[in-house]
Amino acid sequence: MSEPIKTLPLVFDEPRGRKKPPRHLADLTSPERKALLEEQGLPGFRAKQLSMHYFGRLVDDPEQMTDLPAAQRAELVEALLPTLMTPLRTMEADKGTTRKTLWKLFDGALVESVLMRYPDRATVCVSSQAGCGMACPFCATGQGGLQRNMSTAEIVEQVVAGARSMTRGEVPGGPGRVSNVVFMGMGEPLANYKAVIGAVRRLVDPSPDGLGMSARGITVSTVGLVNRIDQLTEEGIPVTLALSLHAPDDELRNELVPINTRWSVAETVEAAWNYARVTKRRVSIEYAMMRGINDQAHRADLLGDLLRSYGDWGWVHVNLIPLNEVPGSQFTRSSDEDTDEFVRRLEAKGVPTTIRDTRGSEIDAACGQLAATEA
Ligand code: SF4
Repeated sequence: MSEPIKTLPLVFDEPRGRKKPPRHLADLTSPERKALLEEQGLPGFRAKQLSMHYFGRLVDDPEQMTDLPAAQRAELVEALLPTLMTPLRTMEADKGTTRKTLWKLFDGALVESVLMRYPDRATVCVSSQAGCGMACPFCATGQGGLQRNMSTAEIVEQVVAGARSMTRGEVPGGPGRVSNVVFMGMGEPLANYKAVIGAVRRLVDPSPDGLGMSARGITVSTVGLVNRIDQLTEEGIPVTLALSLHAPDDELRNELVPINTRWSVAETVEAAWNYARVTKRRVSIEYAMMRGINDQAHRADLLGDLLRSYGDWGWVHVNLIPLNEVPGSQFTRSSDEDTDEFVRRLEAKGVPTTIRDTRGSEIDAACGQLAATEA
């Protein structure tokens, strides 16, 4: 590498004393929703109707909640369906089938989500934190640090908003539904573990308690918080785990993904392998291809050998990501030739490898970039 990589300090904890986001029914289990209404002197059975509007019918206009008594409607909506975020800007690409929304949260924090419609599925990419404390030097979000963790409901709301757009036929291809959710927007999902697991539960809870999605359609990504990967392994929800590895050796990964100074490549990959072993879900290794940094042929061989050392029972595949370049950054995208050679070498070692389709790259649809521009 020509010049040394500048790294920022890792930040795990958000600043203290912040006001909490409004409490919303998506933060709560079904019995908790009922109890909350009763505490406020409202009829508990209305919680189910509100849940049906939110998760089942995807209604957001109180006027349409005609099964609620008009005199109590405002109070009920305020108790369980407060406004969590407002869209500041929506950008479209790929003939309208990619829609990226910049959201303003109640305290002014900015996050983004992306809805991507494919012929056979529709995926929402959600943010889990405003900013990120993991300080990866090639990433726009990492440069701004962590502002705060998002609440369960703030995470879920991004998916519900995407689901509304799909059912209302706002995305070319006619009305449809959201089939997949990937936690690959702003933030390190496992650094906001409790809220993220809460959101996953709301996504898979059957309607009207949740959105009734299949856990198999949900992907949680991480840069490698090993203790949290172990916890997720025990959780018993078969989501797909995506490990953002980006380098197969500690020397380089310590610089590209500073959390590696806490948990080494070997410890991180072992935790991912164990996740695959216990859950029987194939793990995805994410690898952003950076020209002259991590894209050399010897690193492809090293990565292939590392992954194969855990066996060839199909526990893993590699997803190479053409880097979304940050203006002014020393990190640039690898050439197509180097990327193809990387694929060839991994496949020669028997590791299935794909190159990620860079949906919406003309609208900065990579983690953190739109919010960073706005801020
Ligand atoms: S790459 Fe992901 S984990 Fe690293 S700083 Fe960016 S958002 Fe955070």
